[in-house]
Amino acid sequence: MKIDLHSHTTFSDGRLTPAELIQRAQTMQVDVLAITDHDTIYGLADAHAEASKHYPALTLIDGVEISTRWHSFEIHIVGLNIDTADPVLQRFLAEQQQKREERAVKIADKLAKCGFVGTLERARRYAGVGQITRAHFARVLVDNFQVPTLEKAFKLYLGKGKRAAVKAEWPDIAAAVKVIQQAGGRAVLAHPIHYDMSTKWLRRLIGEFSASGGDAAEVVFPGMNADKQAFLQSIVAEHELLASAGSDFHFPGRWTELGRCQLKSDTLTPVWHDWHLSVRQSSLKDPV
Ligand code: AMP
Ligand code: MN
Ligand code: MN
Ligand code: MN
Repeated sequence: MKIDLHSHTTFSDGRLTPAELIQRAQTMQVDVLAITDHDTIYGLADAHAEASKHYPALTLIDGVEISTRWHSFEIHIVGLNIDTADPVLQRFLAEQQQKREERAVKIADKLAKCGFVGTLERARRYAGVGQITRAHFARVLVDNFQVPTLEKAFKLYLGKGKRAAVKAEWPDIAAAVKVIQQAGGRAVLAHPIHYDMSTKWLRRLIGEFSASGGDAAEVVFPGMNADKQAFLQSIVAEHELLASAGSDFHFPGRWTELGRCQLKSDTLTPVWHDWHLSVRQSSLKDPV
């Protein structure tokens, strides 16, 4: 069974529409897919409509990826199996969206001081009806201002401590965990090794996430090597967190593909262990 619990659509910084993402899931033979757009659940309705029409065998998990602040770091908390009709969650996300808007204006101001004029309008055009993210500004810099790659756009301007970095007033980790859980979902620490922190800080992060009541951590995602994987799995086991896995899919590319990061662990308990997955239920007993 192929399970991918982290993916994006055009409702945040993904390049495929929800319908296109469902089609990609079918092509890649993904059986269980969570859509986890940044601070929004608006893409899920289209995805469900497409899945029920064209890929009914798919188990589509309602998800979201919430931005939080922890010390100087922006930490992403994925919510899985959330009730999208929950009013508290909806209000929480509306506030996140407001913060994204305010931050975008400030980012554009800073970019203008670097000589890049008119980035807000362009980034908004890329974002469309979706949430505006730094990834949209990165695309604007690449497409219009001779910045060679998206990575360079972050490295030179948009990344932590760089010239167009804006400290957003995100809520703390515990608030994200709480809002996810009160909406019936599980809170998952996203891509723990992507925060550019030392091992000591990483241990502290996972410890505090666990102490805040967090349910699970991603242990398989793009950009890992065997050493980091083993280290991460050992801390996750130590804190008795459940294990999640996902491709963090944004668009098809050389390094990224839907369904690519599968959990293979005999010791960790998968975050989906008690979900009623209708597809090939029996294979759940096998290591996946
Ligand atoms: P935001 O949530 O608005 O802060 O935007 C963060 C998003 O930008 C992440 O979810 C990634 O998709 C993307 N991103 C962050 N860092 C990089 C990077 N170094 N290179 C390319 N994309 C990045
Ligand atoms: Mn993203
Ligand atoms: Mn993330
Ligand atoms: Mn993501």
